[in-house]
Amino acid sequence: MTAEETADILVIGFGAAGAAAAITAHDLGAKVILLEKAVAGGGSTEASGGNIRQIRDVEGAIRHFCTLADQGTPEDVVVAQVHGLTLLPEWLLELGAHFRGTDAPVPLGLPSGESAGGSTFGQSAFPDVEDSEALGGRLQLAGTPNSSGGEALWQFLESVVKARKIPVRHGAGAKRLLRDHQSGRIVGVEVSGGSRPQMIDARLGVILACGGFNWAPEMHVDLFGTVLPALTPPHRNSGDGIRMAQEVGAQLWHMSAIAARFGYQFPEYEAAFKSTPPSNGFFYVDQLGRRFVDETGVIFHAAGRIMLERDPYTGKLVRCPSFMVFDETTRLSGPIGPQPNGHNRTYDWSSDNHVEIDRGWIHRASTIAELAAWIGVPAPELERTASRYNAARLSGSDDCRRSPQKMEPVEKPPFYAVPLWPCLLNTQGGPRRNARAEVLDVHGEPIPGLYSAGELGSMWGQLYPGAGNIGEALVTGQIAARSAWESDGL
Ligand SMILES: Cc1cc2nc3c(=O)[nH]c(=O)nc-3n(C[C@H](O)[C@H](O)[C@H](O)COP(=O)(O)OP(=O)(O)OC[C@H]3O[C@@H](n4cnc5c(N)ncnc54)[C@H](O)[C@@H]3O)c2cc1C
Repeated sequence: MTAEETADILVIGFGAAGAAAAITAHDLGAKVILLEKAVAGGGSTEASGGNIRQIRDVEGAIRHFCTLADQGTPEDVVVAQVHGLTLLPEWLLELGAHFRGTDAPVPLGLPSGESAGGSTFGQSAFPDVEDSEALGGRLQLAGTPNSSGGEALWQFLESVVKARKIPVRHGAGAKRLLRDHQSGRIVGVEVSGGSRPQMIDARLGVILACGGFNWAPEMHVDLFGTVLPALTPPHRNSGDGIRMAQEVGAQLWHMSAIAARFGYQFPEYEAAFKSTPPSNGFFYVDQLGRRFVDETGVIFHAAGRIMLERDPYTGKLVRCPSFMVFDETTRLSGPIGPQPNGHNRTYDWSSDNHVEIDRGWIHRASTIAELAAWIGVPAPELERTASRYNAARLSGSDDCRRSPQKMEPVEKPPFYAVPLWPCLLNTQGGPRRNARAEVLDVHGEPIPGLYSAGELGSMWGQLYPGAGNIGEALVTGQIAARSAWESDGL
């Protein structure tokens, strides 16, 4: 079959990484075509919080990220990322972005936890790991009124792509990479989505920017032992980039690394909901009725690692699902699931949770023992757990080391429970890439003509610092485009 179109650089996936790659390649002078499998771009990026990590101290940040990656991500990859992050605000400003709170360029050396955008939550998710203070706060773009951070970022990136008239083929899923058999070079893709498969040639390179595998159940079972719910748009990031890269001999990395937070899944909605309790009057129990974590102190991206722990005797995933238990005071104090972002962000959670109780999402019972029967955990154990929790709040000595300041009573009937899952923000695994965003084969050699960017084959390992994926998507998108542009082609 002969190609029906030719680009210099073909970008697969129209999220943050694909947009950054396409904009950079276009501005270098390349003829770019963007392929997007869904009817609209945005992917996980639009559903995200849109927070971009700031760097205060370059050397410290490099050390911190290398430590978090267990030294498993080569230092030059981390160096390229950190340098890219320091230049990112300026790049965005040059493209016409406005940051939330201020338009000022972001200098290095901001006080820890601050960002030029005025959003001052958090530094590294691991403040106790050395050099964490080298990371600054998180930067967000300003968008239309009431837009979430992810929506604002996406509105901006899409507008920049549109202004450049970069062709975007919506509803065009890349299926297979085309390879020149003599040189081994990747020279295009086969696309599905229309009435018949289509071939598109890429003179300089193909950039895979088609996200992770939040919606690939068979990969979840293989890697995690169960299918994980996801907070992202259903069925978009289904591991296509992994399969395409594998077919041409790519090495995979970070496949078991995920960022997942505590959340809910309900039959009427394919995507999951974040758990956002309104007060500190709640605790989590596993299927045996036992608490297992400091619920208010745990790093929220780490829910996957904590909840995928198996019972050592039965081998069962007894924390999947777990249950969030709370009382009438907490129920009346506010909604337990408003969604600031995520695919279900337009769902209007009732202010006292009564709609979600009526829907059967939240179980109600007049006693703890009755609640235990509803959710299928042993009643004596759940009663013991509830009394220990309430006693620990008063004594200040909690088995799970939760601070007494962050424990409010769970003692006023009726009592409530909602199943709790580790819900995927994103996966990190995929084809391994080097500092030039070239995809590497199983021997560590670049596969000519093939690049990757963003969540697909992310540099992050088991410990995710938070606000790391969007910055990585934007930086690696730019790097991949530059590398492809500088390559010789066929
Ligand atoms: C609720 C939530 C909050 C988050 N908050 C943050 C945050 O604040 N900061 C942060 O750094 N990270 C955050 N993340 C993670 C972050 O959003 C993602 O990791 C990041 O946006 C990924 O960008 P990407 O461009 O690699 O992929 P995506 O934005 O997912 O784009 C990939 C695109 O590729 C398309 N695609 C898939 N397969 C194909 C194919 N075969 N052919 C063509 N197109 C294809 C998809 O439809 C999609 O549009 C959050 C995630 C969630 C869910």
